[in-house]
Amino acid sequence: MQATKNITSKTHLFLEKEEQYGAHNYHPLPVVLSKGKGVFVWDVDDRRYYDFLSGYSAINQGHCHPRIIETFIEQAQKLTLTSRAFHNDVLGEYEEYITKLFGYDKVLPMNTGVEAVETGLKLARRWGYEVKGVPHNKGKIITCAQNFHGRTISVISFSSDESSRKDFGPFTPGFEVIPYNDIPALQAALQDSNVIGFLVEPIQGEAGVIVPDEGYLSKVAAMCKEANVLFIADEIQTGLARTGKMLACDHEGVRPDILLLGKALSGGTMPVSAVLADDEIMLTIKPGDHGSTYGGNPIACKVAMTALQVLIDEKMAHNSEIQGAHFRKELLALGHEHISIVRGKGLFNAIVIDHPNKDTAWDICIEMKNNGLLAKPTHGDRIRFAPPLLITRAQVDDCIGIIKKSMENF
Ligand code: PLP
Repeated sequence: MQATKNITSKTHLFLEKEEQYGAHNYHPLPVVLSKGKGVFVWDVDDRRYYDFLSGYSAINQGHCHPRIIETFIEQAQKLTLTSRAFHNDVLGEYEEYITKLFGYDKVLPMNTGVEAVETGLKLARRWGYEVKGVPHNKGKIITCAQNFHGRTISVISFSSDESSRKDFGPFTPGFEVIPYNDIPALQAALQDSNVIGFLVEPIQGEAGVIVPDEGYLSKVAAMCKEANVLFIADEIQTGLARTGKMLACDHEGVRPDILLLGKALSGGTMPVSAVLADDEIMLTIKPGDHGSTYGGNPIACKVAMTALQVLIDEKMAHNSEIQGAHFRKELLALGHEHISIVRGKGLFNAIVIDHPNKDTAWDICIEMKNNGLLAKPTHGDRIRFAPPLLITRAQVDDCIGIIKKSMENF
């Protein structure tokens, strides 16, 4: 691995401090960022890079979007947190805005993505026992292999990634894992009358942008309805214009029973997540049953409204669709012998590297970094390309040039 090539002594100082004082739970590229604007970030030596990770799709609107930052500062100077022990004058406005935008009766505001997932699972279980009539503690939730829904003990209980689970057991029961994009497997799993919900990513992000067959989501929605099982869509990474539509589910015109949002809901300024559902599901949770100190805080509510409105006003879903298609076409046109697969939707894309050396994807990312583009490998041989959604065609072409140049040595 060529991890230390081209690293200045200034960068080294930052890397050393993190190495010494921080937990070693990440393996970042050796670049230390200090500034961001739009599609660009700058390191501590003032070198500029295209950001092709966008904070794992939290920065769909671009770094430090002026309208989002202005909203943030304005609200931060007025009122930051009340807790839900009291009302605040922004929460109701936000709840009305987001429920009308996505077409649900109610929203439950949380902070991180995994909290939204946990909330969705709790809601589904409540609904299963109190509405569907599943015998107590017998409820089952179906999930998919290669999923990524976060890092809590319950959520890793149904992960198929060994490094996420190793020595973290015992795990939470009540989950069954079936293969992704496999309708017969879902059909078989739904035969069990104790099944309450099916939790799925419309496109599997962390697995390397795995796009299911066309028609998969609409079949899933229909089958869940038929079996009286909740269709729970984790759109934390795929939602909010990333794939060329406001939601990835919109590509097939399906409406999940429980919709999970996070990441870009704050445009990368703070953890803001949301769970949307109709009254039959949402009202099974009563005062005191669930919550979070920061969930629904006034800054989060104001920032989320602006973050969503920016996506709409700046037609970011449309730009994602157009630039994404162009990006994939140009990547394929490179015809590089070590790119075995190019896949994705909108500006949510990945390539799979076919090379005998297992470090090649990492080494390509280092080379791209040295040439001014930041991306990160996932699962060893896959590289995700997910720039902010305001990227222009000229910038996409510039990035294709960087990728081409960076791969020339491999
Ligand atoms: N769900 C999906 C699909 C994700 O991609 C992620 C994070 O990458 C999460 C949930 C967890 O979000 P967070 O890291 O904010 O807890």
